[in-house]
Amino acid sequence: MTLEAPPSRAKTLVLAASATLAGTIAFAQSPLDPDLAKFIATIKAVDNHSHVNSTAPGDSDFDALPLDGLPAFPLPMRARPENPEWISGYKALYGYPYGDLNAPHLTELRATMQRVAKEQGERFPEWVLDKIGTEVMVANRVEMGPGLAPPHFRWASYVDALMLPLSTQAERAGNGDYAVLYPFEERLLGRYLKDLQIASPPATLDAYLTAVVTPTLERQQKAGCIAVKFEAAYLRKLDFDDPDEAAARSVYARYVAGGEPTHAEYKALQDFLFRRIAREAGRLGMAVHIHSFEGAGGSYKIGGSDPLLLEPAFNDPSLRATNFVIVHGGGIFAAHTGALFAKPNVYADFSVMPQFYTAATLAGILREWLTQHPEKVLFGTDAFASGPDAGWELSAWLATVTARQALAIALTAMVRDNEVTRPRAQAIATMVLRTNAAKLYKLPLH
Ligand SMILES: [Zn+2]
Repeated sequence: MTLEAPPSRAKTLVLAASATLAGTIAFAQSPLDPDLAKFIATIKAVDNHSHVNSTAPGDSDFDALPLDGLPAFPLPMRARPENPEWISGYKALYGYPYGDLNAPHLTELRATMQRVAKEQGERFPEWVLDKIGTEVMVANRVEMGPGLAPPHFRWASYVDALMLPLSTQAERAGNGDYAVLYPFEERLLGRYLKDLQIASPPATLDAYLTAVVTPTLERQQKAGCIAVKFEAAYLRKLDFDDPDEAAARSVYARYVAGGEPTHAEYKALQDFLFRRIAREAGRLGMAVHIHSFEGAGGSYKIGGSDPLLLEPAFNDPSLRATNFVIVHGGGIFAAHTGALFAKPNVYADFSVMPQFYTAATLAGILREWLTQHPEKVLFGTDAFASGPDAGWELSAWLATVTARQALAIALTAMVRDNEVTRPRAQAIATMVLRTNAAKLYKLPLH
């Protein structure tokens, strides 16, 4: 794929970005430095977090915890099909010529999308990256698949399943979302055991660590994994306490062959396994990604996903060789995330924010973060397919355009207020969109 965007494309991105915000009040209050906006629109990005689909028909490896089976819950306005910005996305990606989505126009659009997918075949994911100006996309997937090869796609695996070797029947009773989500983890652990040709978890915790946990992480690392991801906030609070190893051993041994641990017993084991997995990931040179956001799901425990709950783990001296990335920047807890940047091994991406929040809202968050710790902030989209007319490419486009716009708003204001020079603003934009991630993962960039 072409790594240098042709000038015409760069211009398209700037125009599309402007169109995205033209209708918002915030835009009128947040004038953009046009040269800075143009510079930011042309930076080839490294996207720290996505659920990009492979080109395999019916790809189901895009998330360990797919949310479509949850009891119905409302999505934020910008993620709904009636968001008029989606039309700008269809224009940018597919050359859609209309300003509405009436039935005949939609039929035409679907035909175009099918034609492009067919024409591009396995090259489709790269074709999308080319359109949105992304050089590398980190794919948070159970496994990679056709169309998702390095150097443009890098793998972030899932490890919550390794933390859940005992029955989760009692945990599932916690709420309607848990009832749907825990079985996915049980199946994924089964898949990991099968990969290792092990029928069931061994009898002791020590054997489980040496025969299952470490070999699974090593397998993932050998397969090109650059980070492991915990989606634990969908399943429990993020309060991974200082683990009691003896308690973890005895809980494991008592219930591994059957029976239901109490919540407190299971938590003791999970807390131990969380830190062990994080330590092993660090030893293998993989970062640890942790979902922290106000959702999703109608029973999701928002208070339980505050990244401050992770402070004891971040402070654990035995985990200082592990780099942590707070994925989605903590959402409404973004200020807590900003405070945690003071830990040497803590980073954050702002994925999903540029899909759910406006550019102006995200700009406010970025300005706070970038004033203090610009080297800890990573661009991310959380690109995911949300329906037949909204493939991952549409959400990747929306998030990428909005993120560039937000960065331009924040940095314009910082230059205007004499907080940074224009060259420094350009350097910060490059760090956030590209080089911070490249450094963290030791990625060779073009
Ligand atoms: Zn995600």
